[in-house]
Amino acid sequence: MQPSFRCFNESIYQQACTRVTPLLREQDASLVEKWTEFEWQAIWYSGAFGTSFRAVSGSLVEIVQFGFWNREPGPDFVHASLRVDGGRLLEGDIEFDMHVADWERHGHSQNPAFDRVVLHLFLHKSGASHFTRTTQNREVTQIHLQGEIDLLHIHPPIAHPGRCCAPLRSLPKQTIDSLIETAARIRMQRKADQLRRITIAHGLDEALFQAFAVALGYKLNKIPFLVLAQRARLQLLRELGPAAESLLFGISGFLEDRKTHRAMSIDPDYCRYLWEHWWQIRGQFAHLILRQNLWRFGMTRPSNHPHRRLGALAVLVRRWKEVRLLPPRLEDVAEWMDGLSHPFWDHHFTLNSRRTARPFHLLGQTRINEILANVIHPMLVATNQDDWESYKKIRAELGNRRLMIVCKRLFGETNRAREHIRCLYQQQGLLQIFEDFCLADTTNCAGCRFPEMVAKARQDHQP
Ligand code: SF4
Repeated sequence: MQPSFRCFNESIYQQACTRVTPLLREQDASLVEKWTEFEWQAIWYSGAFGTSFRAVSGSLVEIVQFGFWNREPGPDFVHASLRVDGGRLLEGDIEFDMHVADWERHGHSQNPAFDRVVLHLFLHKSGASHFTRTTQNREVTQIHLQGEIDLLHIHPPIAHPGRCCAPLRSLPKQTIDSLIETAARIRMQRKADQLRRITIAHGLDEALFQAFAVALGYKLNKIPFLVLAQRARLQLLRELGPAAESLLFGISGFLEDRKTHRAMSIDPDYCRYLWEHWWQIRGQFAHLILRQNLWRFGMTRPSNHPHRRLGALAVLVRRWKEVRLLPPRLEDVAEWMDGLSHPFWDHHFTLNSRRTARPFHLLGQTRINEILANVIHPMLVATNQDDWESYKKIRAELGNRRLMIVCKRLFGETNRAREHIRCLYQQQGLLQIFEDFCLADTTNCAGCRFPEMVAKARQDHQP
C-alpha cells in the first residue's frame, strides 16, 4: 500500500507542537589536574557525574535535560532544564568553569549572553565566597562538582537521541519524508506571513531588502544587518546612486574602525571611493552609525565576513531594478545570484585583506540556498506565485549545527539522517520540528507529543 500523506496534514502537526550528592565513587585528585575544561565539559555532558546534586546553597538540584552543547560564543550548554528542591522546572543555559571565580574573571556577569544561565558548575573554589550573578543581578544556582567520577566518556555527541528515535526507525522513508514536508510547508507559510506583515508596514521593496539583509547577516550578524537595512532604507540608497555603497559602509561603522584605514595602502582605489562620498554625507548620518560591538567577526569563514556580505548587499541595491524583474522561478533567481560580482569583493575577504590571486563567488551556493528558502520562496508564497515542486528539488549540503543536533535527536546517527537532509525543504522541515518540539520541550522528551504523532502515523500506514 502506498503511504498516504493524509495523517500529516498541517493541523495535526500544529496540534501536536503546543508548547543529592552526585553518585561519585572513585577518588583521584590527579584527574582534576589532568583534563582541560573542554574535557570536563564532555564528562559532564556524558552524564558521568549523575543527575542529582546538592547545590552550594544546600538545595537539591535534579538535571532533567542536559541541553545541547553550544560550540559558539556564550554559555557552554543551552536549552537545559532542571528542578530545584522538587519545585517547578527551570529552563535555561548551563555554564561550566574550572574555578568558581572564572564567572567574574571571564566577564560573564557583565555579558547579556549569559543572562539565561540557570546553573553554574565549577570544579575549584577558594576560601572566599563567590556569587554567580547575571547582568540583571539575578543569582544563579552554583554546584561545586567534586573531582570524582566512576565513568568516563570523553567524546560525547553534540546531542542525545530522543524518544522519537525508536518510532521513527520503524516508519518507511516516504512516510518520514511526508512528515518532514508537512513541517517544511508550515515553516514556509510562517515566513511568508512574516514577510507579508513587514510588507504591510514598509512596502514590498523595503520588506524584501530587509529580508535580503537578514539572510546575508546569517547567523551571527542578523541583527546588525537588519538594523542597517532599517536605517539605510532602500529608497534612500537608490536615491543616493553612486554614494549608496559608501552610506552602507559608513552607517555600518566599518569605515570608523582604525584597522580598516590600513586598507588605504592595500587597495587605495576602493577605500578612496567609499570615503569620497562618505565624508560628504557623514555629518548628516553620523547619528545612525552602528555600535561596533553589535558585530560578530569571529566564528565565520573568511568568505562570509560581514564586510564581504555588506559588499554583496551593496550589489543588490545597485541592481535592484533587476531584482524586481526576476522571473518567479527559483532556478532563474539562483542563476542570477550566482552571477553577481563586484570588482573589489570578488578578490577580497575583508576591507583590509590582501587581494586574492583568483576571484571567488560573491555569494556561495549555501548562501544562495538560504536566500531562496528565507527570502525568494516566502515572497513567492506571499504573492501566490510559488511552485512547491521546484522548491522541493533544491539540493543542499548539511550546513549548520542545529541541523546536526536535530539529526542526532531524531535519527540517532547521521547515516540514517542522510537520506532526509539532501534537499533544502527537508532541512527546513527538520529545523521546524526542532523548534516546535525539541526547543519547546523541557522534560527530556517525556512530555513531547512528537513520538505519539509518529506512532499514530505508523498505525495509519500499516497495510
Ligand atoms: S523533544 Fe520530542 S522531537 Fe525532540 S528529540 Fe525528544 S521526542 Fe524527539
